[in-house]
Amino acid sequence: MKNTCLLPCLLTAALFTGCLQAAPAKLADFQVATTRAHVSLSLPVYPLTADQVKTQATQSIKTADAELAVLAAQDPAKLTFASTFGAYDTITAKVTGAYLIAGTIAESALDKGMRDTANEVTVTLQEWGVALDYREDLYRPLKALADSKPVLDGEQQRLVDEQMRTFRRAGLALPAAERAEVERLRKDLAGLTTQFAVNINEVRSPLDFTAAELAGVPPSFLDSPGVKQADGRYRVMANITWHYQAIMENADNADVRRRVITARFQLARETNTAVLSKLVVLRADIAHRLGYATWADYQIETRMAKNGAAAVKFEEDLVSGLQPKFEGEMATLRALKAAQTGQADAKLEIADIAYYTNKLKKEKYSVDVEALRVYFPYQATLEGMFAIYQKIFGLKFTAVEPPYVWAPGVQLYVVADSATGVPMGAFYLDMFPRDGKFNHFACFDQKLGGLLADGSYDLPVAALLCNFPVPSADKPSLLKHADVEILFHEFGHVMHAMLSRSRFAAQGGFNVPLDFVEAPSQMLENWVWDKAVLDTFAADYRDPSKKIPAETIAALVKARQAIEGYNTRRQLSIGLLDLSLHTLSADGAWTADVVKIVNDTTARVAIASPPDTFWAAFIGHLAGYDAGYYGYLWAKVMSIDMASEFRKAPGGFLDEKVGRRLRDEVYGVGNTRDVAVSVEKFLGRPRSQQPFLDYVGIKQ
Ligand SMILES: [Zn+2]
Repeated sequence: MKNTCLLPCLLTAALFTGCLQAAPAKLADFQVATTRAHVSLSLPVYPLTADQVKTQATQSIKTADAELAVLAAQDPAKLTFASTFGAYDTITAKVTGAYLIAGTIAESALDKGMRDTANEVTVTLQEWGVALDYREDLYRPLKALADSKPVLDGEQQRLVDEQMRTFRRAGLALPAAERAEVERLRKDLAGLTTQFAVNINEVRSPLDFTAAELAGVPPSFLDSPGVKQADGRYRVMANITWHYQAIMENADNADVRRRVITARFQLARETNTAVLSKLVVLRADIAHRLGYATWADYQIETRMAKNGAAAVKFEEDLVSGLQPKFEGEMATLRALKAAQTGQADAKLEIADIAYYTNKLKKEKYSVDVEALRVYFPYQATLEGMFAIYQKIFGLKFTAVEPPYVWAPGVQLYVVADSATGVPMGAFYLDMFPRDGKFNHFACFDQKLGGLLADGSYDLPVAALLCNFPVPSADKPSLLKHADVEILFHEFGHVMHAMLSRSRFAAQGGFNVPLDFVEAPSQMLENWVWDKAVLDTFAADYRDPSKKIPAETIAALVKARQAIEGYNTRRQLSIGLLDLSLHTLSADGAWTADVVKIVNDTTARVAIASPPDTFWAAFIGHLAGYDAGYYGYLWAKVMSIDMASEFRKAPGGFLDEKVGRRLRDEVYGVGNTRDVAVSVEKFLGRPRSQQPFLDYVGIKQ
């Protein structure tokens, strides 16, 4: 927003210093600044009962349907951008708003009835949103306007292009008969996709072992409920990941490990091999009918990579880039096996990897992560992170008295530009666990930003739902280093939400390509591995003069890097088997041997699977995130590349110039332009995989 610069700095600076000294500020205290800057800071309306949850959702759909009916019924001769695409964005954003609030209530309300109702209405709202893409009555006026090729600015044109692309992808550009056929195939696809997931959820694979066979496995596993059987043997469920890991990392008996990994890699094989073959054929067929060479091209079109070939090239480049590190790690693990077994020519198998990795970490890279907690008391860590983000992004956070909270202890902050004092958004913090609350860590958008009809900017609101350890009677909440990393990551999403300044809701906040959305937050994880950053806030809570020793941080980095080459190649093997299955042509898919494709790719990129297995049958991502697994690494590699700009800046990870560039070129513009352009503008150069290879430890 240009007009934010018009505000006299002194006046607002005085306003904000005043707010700091008094007890919690009030939202009304920001009124002067918001009015002068033509921004609007209003919080979402939170329903207070299950009935209200339902009414609010139903009402939002009713209103939107009525408004969309007006849009659809317009005189074709009088269409304008504002009456078509502009209106569509505004109308649908309101339903998105209702969806965001229902989604938050489903995960956070104290009352179970409210949570259940909210869960139901999120499904209804989501289905309504999906059905929009198939509505011909809306497609007609929007297409008519697009075809008239009006003179539009860049953001408007992008909104038009992406919306028309959505309709085309839904099949609306096809003749009626062909469209009906695609719809029929999509129904089959949805059914099979569900079937694939159900088969994974339902499969069980128990294996019983004697205590002697399980030598090396810790009591924490053996004493777990349900493990010890009446006959004195121990039951390992190969389908339960932590069971599987406990054996693979600890069982000294190689044959036991082999049996467990073979059982794991055979899970759902009987059912899902056929399902996956059919899925691959159906997807290739649908893509072909919609005008794409492959399913990967169809899926990836809306993402940063843009097509299947670019995703494959990205992954293959990493496979070769990692080769020396990967080989070195395999040699280290093999040497450990040779030493333990006394066989100089011992061969490393897949059943050995986790076991010798665990040994290596214990013997060579042991770091007592529990002991590090004393450096990370929750409140000091939060304030330390706030100070860093305020500094690098040029912001000021002010705690305000929340007009309403969904649970005791929830806090509200207003984010303002530190130079002008102009508010930019607000965020809630709901940081500790309670019964019935969402049990991970995530940022929930509460309201998207966007331009209002009166020309003012409606500011975004976000909420962080976390589960940090609760304080005890004699100790504050003490975080693990991994918790601190999560905090920096999740708060990165809050920054993304706050700093976005797109005119249209469809181009703001997290409405960026799926293979990009995590990158800025992943980038901020790098901060907690840097001594200069940690020294700004991490100190022993019993004696704050004690900082984390440099060698401890170095040891943490070494431990992380120890087996990163293999771990990345394993991820690449999933990404590439996924892409291999989804870069088949419609004809090729009919005759493809999915088992061979998967096993060959795995053996080439990581390490051969046990004989007579098919692990893809148990990879849930292949139904739902298909042709998308590469995205994890795509975003990660980009995040490390972006972090390298801070690393080499004069101020390091606290450099304000680089921070400002990130705010302006990436967060601020959101999806108003191609994200690849934004990232390169931030970097000031083309993207590179080299910083990621350095991060993995390729230079060792
Ligand atoms: Zn994230």
